[in-house]
Amino acid sequence: MIPMVDLKIQYEQIKEEIDNGLLEALGKTQFILGPNVAAFEQEAAAYLGVPHAVGVASGTDALHLALAAAGIGPGDEVITSPFTFIATAEAICYVGAKPVFVDVEPGSFNIDPVLAAKAITPRTKALLPVHLFGQPANIGALQELCDKHNLLLIEDCAQSFGAAIGGKMTGSFGLAGCFSFFPSKNLGGYGDGGLVTTTSDETAERLRMLRNHGSKVRYHHDAIGYNSRLDELQAVILRVKLKRIDTYNRERRRVAHRYSAALASLGITPPVEDGIGNHVYHQYTLLSDRRDAIMAKLGERQIASAIYYPIPLHKQNVFAAACAGLSLPVSEGIAARCLSLPIFPEMTDAQVDEVLAAVRDALA
Ligand SMILES: *Cc1c(COP(=O)(O)O)cnc(C)c1O
Repeated sequence: MIPMVDLKIQYEQIKEEIDNGLLEALGKTQFILGPNVAAFEQEAAAYLGVPHAVGVASGTDALHLALAAAGIGPGDEVITSPFTFIATAEAICYVGAKPVFVDVEPGSFNIDPVLAAKAITPRTKALLPVHLFGQPANIGALQELCDKHNLLLIEDCAQSFGAAIGGKMTGSFGLAGCFSFFPSKNLGGYGDGGLVTTTSDETAERLRMLRNHGSKVRYHHDAIGYNSRLDELQAVILRVKLKRIDTYNRERRRVAHRYSAALASLGITPPVEDGIGNHVYHQYTLLSDRRDAIMAKLGERQIASAIYYPIPLHKQNVFAAACAGLSLPVSEGIAARCLSLPIFPEMTDAQVDEVLAAVRDALA
């Protein structure tokens, strides 16, 4: 039995540190915005190379609060990818703005800057690229667009903790970077959690206010805010894992490279954009016309696999009316052919080879 991700084996390796940290935090009883949240924010900011990191309740909230702090609202348009998790577009809707879906590049699964340029209107306020599956989007070209048209850049980094472009981390390029600590993410807690990074002092202050009921001083409220704080116990766990994130991401790359070395001759390896940045393989997602046969063969051998994502956002029921007649052929083609294989830092070479044998047999 090979799962998509094995959280149990990782917990066993760091159990003592996590358990001790949790017990200490339980003893202190500072459960809301306690010392571990503050320490984690500092450690994450230092790792990501940004002046500010603000812990929030989830990745979805990170996106929502970042858009709200940026002043995006009704009447505004935000250009984003249709080939992502629903939360990216939901957050745009939460602030009353309109998601404008632009097709992705076949070579990276990420938003196509040339098509993004064509979608800009006088109502466009921001670009919201996703660093999908852990591979950085083409930030250079997107930043140029933002500079030229006076747009904000907000990055969805839910899948890209530790991915960098020329040594500079995803989440440090735009006004804000939005991270998720959902348990299966590259840096995952043991429950929900999220983080917004920003280079702007003013935005950081707004984020801290918004996550805490619009309050800077207790019982003084300057805006309608939210109850969206990173949990103290999650911060304990995240601090333990943050220390190991480079190892975790390196081990993911080991697995991915082993997959790709074997699958290259079959022509089904994931697209990797050379020279854009380092990929942290949140997912290893291949493309095959026969993905259903591969999936069935893996299932027969107790090997997990998953389709991320089967339906692009412009084809989802919730956006069907708003996107009627919209055709985004690259995303639609990928959704019909993509299959994600198990990948996690602790996966052994023998497990990888077992998956590979099943894929080969399915296609033989
Ligand atoms: C996981 C994810 C989110 C949402 O994060 P949550 O912590 O689950 O709210 C947003 N965008 C992308 C691309 C994601 O993968």
